[in-house]
Amino acid sequence: MLNSKAVLTSINDYYNELKSKMLTIKSHNRKILENIEGFIEIENEIGAKNFELAKLKYTGDTESAKKVQTEIDNLTLKLKDIIKSASLVKYNYECPICKDTGIVDGKRCKCYLKHISNYILKELGANRQQTCSFKSSKSCPSLKKHYEIAKSYAKTFPNTKVNNFVFMGNVGSGKTHLSKCILTELALKGFSTVFFSATELNNLFIKMHVGEADRVLSFEMLSECDLLVIDDLGTEPLYNNITVDYLLSVISTRIGLKKHFIITTNLTTDELYARYNERLLSRLSNKTETLFIPFNGEDLRRQ
Ligand SMILES: [Zn+2]
Repeated sequence: MLNSKAVLTSINDYYNELKSKMLTIKSHNRKILENIEGFIEIENEIGAKNFELAKLKYTGDTESAKKVQTEIDNLTLKLKDIIKSASLVKYNYECPICKDTGIVDGKRCKCYLKHISNYILKELGANRQQTCSFKSSKSCPSLKKHYEIAKSYAKTFPNTKVNNFVFMGNVGSGKTHLSKCILTELALKGFSTVFFSATELNNLFIKMHVGEADRVLSFEMLSECDLLVIDDLGTEPLYNNITVDYLLSVISTRIGLKKHFIITTNLTTDELYARYNERLLSRLSNKTETLFIPFNGEDLRRQ
């Protein structure tokens, strides 16, 4: 079950494990430094000088304080040299943004949102093994322009010309592939990206609706990840008061937050209109926010 306690426990375990790894390396490095001749002495000397400096500042002896400050600076440089030349174990953060704490400026980091989405996708049984990249893609002449648009979108992200795309076209026209290429590229750059088929998303909506999935956490992940891809919109079953309402809520929130999304669909605008009513279409109708791109090329999968 997708309740917040299970999700948070699993994610916190992950961060705690990273933290303990980091602490082990820190204490290992500390031992190396302590064994270097002069290191502890210099460190102690800096401590004593700082105490002396505080006293001098208190008594207003600025001349002597200046002298002591220079001594402290020189000792600090010596210490830095020792640290530089020591063979310490380097710790590479999994996420340099939050330094593996999962929190930045009191908010959940992108990596945290990514963990939430991974957890939810795993619980939904979604298969996420296939990745696509611009480099390994076969170039199809009829989609040359599409690839150019997609590459420039990924390159300039998040300062893209338009924030959102609706890729429209028949099955096998390359919409899903192209959206996955963008997603892979952005994920490599460290953005939090979430890919849902419309059916998976609909299943999550139902779980959120009946309280089987944590609403707040799921909604946070769906609204705040850097890029959300909803694949094959129109193939999912429609549930009254759920499918359209939740979808509209996610889309509206993302547009409000200026967060990017890509929707792929086999439906035409008329069919989308008929299926989801004008509320969704009107949210997507602002051309400065959302670009509808037709895929009328030949079937890429037959080549
Ligand atoms: Zn992070």
